[in-house]
Amino acid sequence: MSVESLFPRLEALLPKVQKPIQYVGGELNSTVKEWDDADVRWALMYPDAYEVGLPNQGVQILYEILNELDRTLAERTYAVWPDLEALMREHGVPQFTVDAHRPVRAFDVLGVSFSTELGYTNLLTALDLSGIPLRAADRGEDDPIVLAGGHAAFNPEPIAEFLDAAVLGDGEQIAIAITEVIREWKDEGRPGGRDELLMRLAESGGVYVPRFYDVEYHPDGRIKRVVPNREGVPWRVHKHTVMDLDEWPYPKKPLVPLAETVHERFSVEIFRGCTRGCRFCQAGMITRPVRERSITTIGDMVEAGVRESGFNEVGLLSLSSADHSEIGDIAKGLADRYEGTNTSLSLPSTRVDAFNITLANEFSRNGRRSGLTFAPEGGSERMRKVINKMVSEEDLIRTVSTAYGQGWRQVKLYFMCGLPTEEDEDVLAIADLARRVIQAGREVSGSRDIRCTVSIGGFVPKPHTPFQWAAQTDHETVDRRLKALRDTLRKDREYGRAIGMRYHDGKPSVIEGLLSRGDRRVAKVIRAVWEDGGRFDGWSEHFSFERWMSCAEKALADEPVDLDWYTLRERDENEVLPWDHLDAGLDREWLWQDWQDALGEGEVEDCRWTPCYDCGVCPTMGTEIQIGPTGRKLLPLTVV
Ligand code: SF4
Repeated sequence: MSVESLFPRLEALLPKVQKPIQYVGGELNSTVKEWDDADVRWALMYPDAYEVGLPNQGVQILYEILNELDRTLAERTYAVWPDLEALMREHGVPQFTVDAHRPVRAFDVLGVSFSTELGYTNLLTALDLSGIPLRAADRGEDDPIVLAGGHAAFNPEPIAEFLDAAVLGDGEQIAIAITEVIREWKDEGRPGGRDELLMRLAESGGVYVPRFYDVEYHPDGRIKRVVPNREGVPWRVHKHTVMDLDEWPYPKKPLVPLAETVHERFSVEIFRGCTRGCRFCQAGMITRPVRERSITTIGDMVEAGVRESGFNEVGLLSLSSADHSEIGDIAKGLADRYEGTNTSLSLPSTRVDAFNITLANEFSRNGRRSGLTFAPEGGSERMRKVINKMVSEEDLIRTVSTAYGQGWRQVKLYFMCGLPTEEDEDVLAIADLARRVIQAGREVSGSRDIRCTVSIGGFVPKPHTPFQWAAQTDHETVDRRLKALRDTLRKDREYGRAIGMRYHDGKPSVIEGLLSRGDRRVAKVIRAVWEDGGRFDGWSEHFSFERWMSCAEKALADEPVDLDWYTLRERDENEVLPWDHLDAGLDREWLWQDWQDALGEGEVEDCRWTPCYDCGVCPTMGTEIQIGPTGRKLLPLTVV
């Protein structure tokens, strides 16, 4: 049966809200398919505002892949701002897709991509506005399957109660596989109802269905074990890895936003995974191994994407873009191709070495020379050994000197505060480093007109990393250290004015810590925060630390655990972690050993250029490192 558009009802509300354009859809390259021509229908959600959600690559890729399938349609939905939420409640307008303004509840699947845990309250708003019961257990036969993906889905336990299913890893192939399972079940007349559909998904081993697992606890609050409660459900659920990125050159037709968004460019992912082994980096750990897209596919994707979208900026994405085995040829080839056109190229690389500057020089041939960014992450040499960021002070000074010597005037340095074993002096070492950077820059450039900005984020221990056992540093300590650093820089008469400092207070990191390493009991906190009005927790103007604190206290009052237990407590080797039954491929013993190596300040090389050190991923997942060089080159686009 056809589903009517909600647009006429929504349209009446739009003059009363901010940025109404974000709700109207119809972007270049968006797709609207006939409802009745499809028998499997996905609503894809990025749980943040349109301006953040639209550029999200994961959603754009799945949107295109699913819409290319016969008898399948996919539409997008984003979190609505509180002004529209209030009006939708007042006028009974449910959560809608922006493509055909269909009610989200009418779809078969609501697939939600979580890049960060701070989107959890927005999921509850969307469910509630859709009329979908918040708890998966309360949902009826006709409600969509609520499915989570994205990096935060590697520990979906804090939102397990609200999810029917979760998928770990790359979405391209599994989204198609899920579609086929649903289609088959529907074609057969929905035997066994929703329960059987979830069972079919769970049996495959590639879809996690939380309701089929029971969690048992020790009296002190630690988890005793997580056990399947159905026959045929696997003990561990595995992540998905796409092995040939050239076979999946998406997005082919990038969406062009109607309203202002955080990135207005066409992004091409040049490789997936990272084996540098930075111990704080969840993205690097869970996306192993490295799989490169070939230089020719990258060239073809840039050409097609620019043609289809009209974007005049192209970004080459990955976790460490300068590490592509043919990045030099890619940079030169693309810079040659687009020289003199209005297409500019960017490479968001933070690698600390001179080669990065060579690349930046290539990429800025056709565009602005805004600034260069490097990420030493730790202020002191000792700290950098703990986190396995193998950058010496000499490396950094040599690199920035080259940059300033080649005419760059602005250098940005990324650091983290609150890292395991960190002392006050490790953070104050950031000031020394920044001073040496300016000093070296003045010497090589002969100018006082150079700047360095230090940008500092709070460290949050993440699941599936060697720091998953670590105690998080309390926000008072983080704030005290950052204040001491700021005061030191301000007092410096010689260099202080040339050094900028950007940082946030440590409180949001504590909540991110609770949500990252939480278990199923944290759902009560999330729900309490949402019921108290919590929305858009990733936005400082909406985030309320006090609300999270008071809700955590109340919601966990009957439990033997509290917020500090989840965040500030170091775990021991044998403790069952909430995500141990979810397999990112990393061998638990290897992770523990790497954690011990971190405490001993021992370093690990990148397995791309040294022998495999058995982190476990390749044998467990049946994957392998896949890098070039291919030896191919990018030829000019127009043959005269
Ligand atoms: S298994 Fe070996 S080659 Fe594969 S990612 Fe781990 S260390 Fe690298």
